[in-house]
Amino acid sequence: MPLGLYVSVPFCRSKCSFCNFASGVFSRDKMNGYIAQLQEEIASAETRATILHAEFERSVDSIYFGGGTPTTLSPDQLGCIFQAIRNEFHVQPDAEITVECAPGTLRPEILDALLQGGTNRVSLGTQSFIDEEIKSVGRLHTAQQTLADINALRAAGIANINVDLIAGLPHQTAERWRASLDQLAQSGVPHASVYILEIDEDSRLGRELIAGGNRYHAHHVPDSDLAADLYLEAVDFLDRAGLPQYEISNFARPDFESHHNLKYWTRQPYFGFGLDAHSMLRANITSLDVESVRFANGDDLLTYLAGSAQQEPTFIGHQGASEETMFLGLRLNRGIDLHTIKPAITQSFDREIRELLNLGLLEQSGNSLRLTSRGRLLSNEVFERFITVPAALAAG
Ligand code: SF4
Repeated sequence: MPLGLYVSVPFCRSKCSFCNFASGVFSRDKMNGYIAQLQEEIASAETRATILHAEFERSVDSIYFGGGTPTTLSPDQLGCIFQAIRNEFHVQPDAEITVECAPGTLRPEILDALLQGGTNRVSLGTQSFIDEEIKSVGRLHTAQQTLADINALRAAGIANINVDLIAGLPHQTAERWRASLDQLAQSGVPHASVYILEIDEDSRLGRELIAGGNRYHAHHVPDSDLAADLYLEAVDFLDRAGLPQYEISNFARPDFESHHNLKYWTRQPYFGFGLDAHSMLRANITSLDVESVRFANGDDLLTYLAGSAQQEPTFIGHQGASEETMFLGLRLNRGIDLHTIKPAITQSFDREIRELLNLGLLEQSGNSLRLTSRGRLLSNEVFERFITVPAALAAG
C-alpha cells in the first residue's frame, strides 16, 4: 500500500497566542540546520523502518507539509526537501501534495518553488475573515491577503485549496462568524476546516483564560457555549454551501476530501519527518501479535538538530489495531462498519456502545456506527470510552 509522507516545518513568522504546537520563530541558522537534519532523516527512512521491524514502502501517494508554516522557508530550502523525498521515494504522478501556508507568505518565488515540487493542494491558515479577530491572536495577515492568495493559487493552477476557520477567537460574535462563513463560501474554495479554540495551559492565551486575566484579548474570548453554537452553525452553513462535513473538523465538496488526512483516520501507513512528526507503519514481525508500529520524534528543536529526537516505538497488537479503527473511524461522518472490527472487540465494548447510543452521542443504522452531531462536540469523551489499558506494548 503506498505511503503518505508528513514533513514538519516548525517555523512561523510570529507565534499565535493560542498555539500549542511545537513551533516558533527561529534564526536562519537554525532553519538551515533543520533542513540538513531533515534531509538526513529522509535519506535514512528505510534503515529506520528496518530497525523497527516495520514494512517500508517506497511508493508514495500523498505528501503533507505542515507545521508551523512551511512557506517561511526559502525557495531553495523547499526545493531541498522535495528533492530529498524524490531521492528516497517514488512519488506517484497523481499523488496529493499539500502545503500549509500562512496567508501573506505566498511570494511569487515561493509559489514557484511549490509548483516545481509538484504541490497541487494548499491549506491556508486563515482562521477568520475579520481583521480584528486575526490581529488579536498575533497573526500578521489580513482577510484581503487570504483572498489575494486564493486568486494567486488559482492563477497558478492550484484550485484544490483549504481554508481554516477557528470558532471562539477573541472579539468573535455570531454576526462576525456569519460574515467569515459567507466570505469562505463566496471564495469558492472546495475544502474548509473548522476548529473550536482550544483552551489549555499549553498556550499563552489558554493560560491567561484559565487564570482569568486580560492579556492576549482573553476577556474578549466568547464563552464555550457560544463557540460550540458557532461550530454547529458552520456545520449547517457549509452543508448548504455544498461542502458537507466528512470529519469532525473537515468539510469538502465531493472528491475534494483530504486524501492524506483520510489515511490517519482509516489507519493507512504514513511516515513523518521532522520535529514532533509521528509515523505508523505495518509491522514486519510474523511471530508475535504485532500489527503495526507507531514511532515519533520528540518536540525539542535542539534535540532534533543534534540528531537524537527519535523516541521509543510502540508496537500495536491486533486488539489495539481494532480499537484504533474504532475511535479513529468514528471521527468520520460515515462512521465505522462494524463488520470491519473484530467481533471480540465490539463485544468487549458492548456496554459502552449501548450507553453512548442511549446518551444520544452515537447512532447506529445496520452495521454502521457513527457519532451524532452532539457526539461530535463531545468526541474526546466518546473516544476515551474506547481506549483500554495495554492495547500496545512499548518496546524496550
Ligand atoms: S502559524 Fe500555526 S503553527 Fe505557527 S504559531 Fe500560528 S497556529 Fe501555531
